[in-house]
Amino acid sequence: KGMMQVKGLAVGYGNGSVPLHSNIDIEVNEGEFICLLGPNGAGKSTLIKTLAGFLKPIQGDVFFNGCSLKQLSESDRSKLVSVVLTDRLQVPNLTVFELVALGRTPYTGFFGKLTPEDVELVNNAISRVGLANYRHKPIDKMSDGERQKAMIAKALVQETPFIILDEPTAFLDLPAKLEIMQLLKRLSCEHGRGILLSTHDLEMALQIADKIWLLAQGRKLQVGIPEDLVLSN
Ligand code: ADP
Ligand code: ADP
Repeated sequence: KGMMQVKGLAVGYGNGSVPLHSNIDIEVNEGEFICLLGPNGAGKSTLIKTLAGFLKPIQGDVFFNGCSLKQLSESDRSKLVSVVLTDRLQVPNLTVFELVALGRTPYTGFFGKLTPEDVELVNNAISRVGLANYRHKPIDKMSDGERQKAMIAKALVQETPFIILDEPTAFLDLPAKLEIMQLLKRLSCEHGRGILLSTHDLEMALQIADKIWLLAQGRKLQVGIPEDLVLSN
């Protein structure tokens, strides 16, 4: 009865192709902070995109609060899980404010109007990720790190119980990386959000994760606590 449950999942690309990973059975509970750890090419992005509903499972299913991903409408899914991917965004004309405000569309509808509360939420999130001075800057004029922060702010205003992030610190320098990780950690500790993020940074995962999902090419996904990983080294 975890908030996210994964049952018999196989992930990969294309019909009839050999899955990259199969027989994945895992879950995420309220307030859990999970790092999906593995070297480049292990299949982290593939698993993340499948859990987020952007890639169809080859087998098995993913459940959010008991609802099958296959049966959730896009707007219902957006109220349960927010997703931050590293893929370059194709939204050239948006400002930071407009991008972050998109996180409210599951509630307002695409053509809905932001309430004053929505506007405040958006502005607060922008400040929390350190972009207060860039509110009206077009995101295609920003650095990768700044864009990443804007995406995280968008996830914050979506106010979902669950947040999935693919390599959220990939483009950030060390101070920004620590800030973002602390912010995410607080979201799980104080607000009970389930956080799943992928990384190839073992040290960071050891420091911050409640649980580590270890993924390596051609191996079954392993779940452990950071202490297990240290001891088995
Ligand atoms: P990258 O090239 O993506 O930066 P690295 O070359 O730094 O990755 O390899 C480190 C990887 O080794 C970690 O991401 C992790 O997946 C793997 N690893 C580290 N410790 C263990 C362990 N105890 N058991 C299995 N795999 C481990
Ligand atoms: P990671 O995120 O751990 O670096 P990925 O999930 O990006 O790993 O990649 C895992 C494997 O899937 C790689 O061999 C990669 O080449 C392959 N792959 C990634 N994207 C696609 C795609 N769109 N179509 C086919 N194969 C892909």
